[in-house]
Amino acid sequence: MMYNAIKSDKAFDLSQFPKGKVSKFWLHIINNGIGEPIRIPMLIARGTEDGPVLGLNAALHGNELNGINVIQKLFREIGEAPQINGTVIGILVANVPGVLLGQRRFNDDFDLNRQAPGSETGIPSSIYVNRLIERVVKHFDYFLDLHTTGFGKENCWHIRADINDSVTRQLAVLQSPEAILHSTPDEQSLRGHASSLGIKSLTLEIKDPMRFQPEVVKDAIAGIHNLMSFIGMTEYVPTCPLDYTWLCKSSQWVRSNEGGILTVFPELMQTVAKGEKIAEVRNIFGEKTKEFFAPENGIVIAKNINPIAQTGSGILNLGTKIEKIPCTMEKL
Ligand SMILES: [Zn+2]
Repeated sequence: MMYNAIKSDKAFDLSQFPKGKVSKFWLHIINNGIGEPIRIPMLIARGTEDGPVLGLNAALHGNELNGINVIQKLFREIGEAPQINGTVIGILVANVPGVLLGQRRFNDDFDLNRQAPGSETGIPSSIYVNRLIERVVKHFDYFLDLHTTGFGKENCWHIRADINDSVTRQLAVLQSPEAILHSTPDEQSLRGHASSLGIKSLTLEIKDPMRFQPEVVKDAIAGIHNLMSFIGMTEYVPTCPLDYTWLCKSSQWVRSNEGGILTVFPELMQTVAKGEKIAEVRNIFGEKTKEFFAPENGIVIAKNINPIAQTGSGILNLGTKIEKIPCTMEKL
């Protein structure tokens, strides 16, 4: 069962994996242009007892890598003989061509996170997503989609979740991130489609692209242990890496309507007041051409760190309608 390839013409049946063990394998999704398989690396930990299925997905955007390290280390902690109720499924690399190219998108230049549910007869990224959902995601009861920010930006450690759903909100709080952004997901995103299937789903935004960041990886894993305890998979006693989280009931990317050399002033997780200066643009000769001010009170969730900013570039992602909430572990 170790490292065996699973053919694309069959959805895998979870019961084929042995209980009380971790299986490592490559799942064949599509063929490349010379007829060779593109396979995704996966880990499945089945406990000896039945229970929920928790799915973790990394690198759906090929330049967003921290999630790979989260899954690797989580499975190391779960060990070779998982003492859990239920099953943890880890997709180590969802977008295999994108990771190999070091790019966000799939190799047909479409965003896999805008293609759900895909189709059996569509463009390559559409078929790829469709098979990923039909063969893997449909098995999940709970789903964590592991992302980071993109090139030229930096992110705080935050979660996107529909906090109007009480279970989803509790799962997000248990992750104990720096911030939670309320967002009703786009149905073409993997989180959105999974939610429409009744799967409780969160997007974890684990800081920055193209690197492994051990501190935030550690905190994300602590949050996943909390979540596993909450859904009855372990007896683990939850811990909070952070004492509180900023809950943002709304958020917006504030954009520059002036192109040029951009400087963004506030740091990540800094609160700003409405009307406070947040950025300026200068021309290439160093002369100031425009200043930008916070449109509302809020907190900086992500910011642009690329000085070369065409008209329309994002300045910062402002979490608004904010509230500080403790990391609570009460069962609902
Ligand atoms: Zn992403």
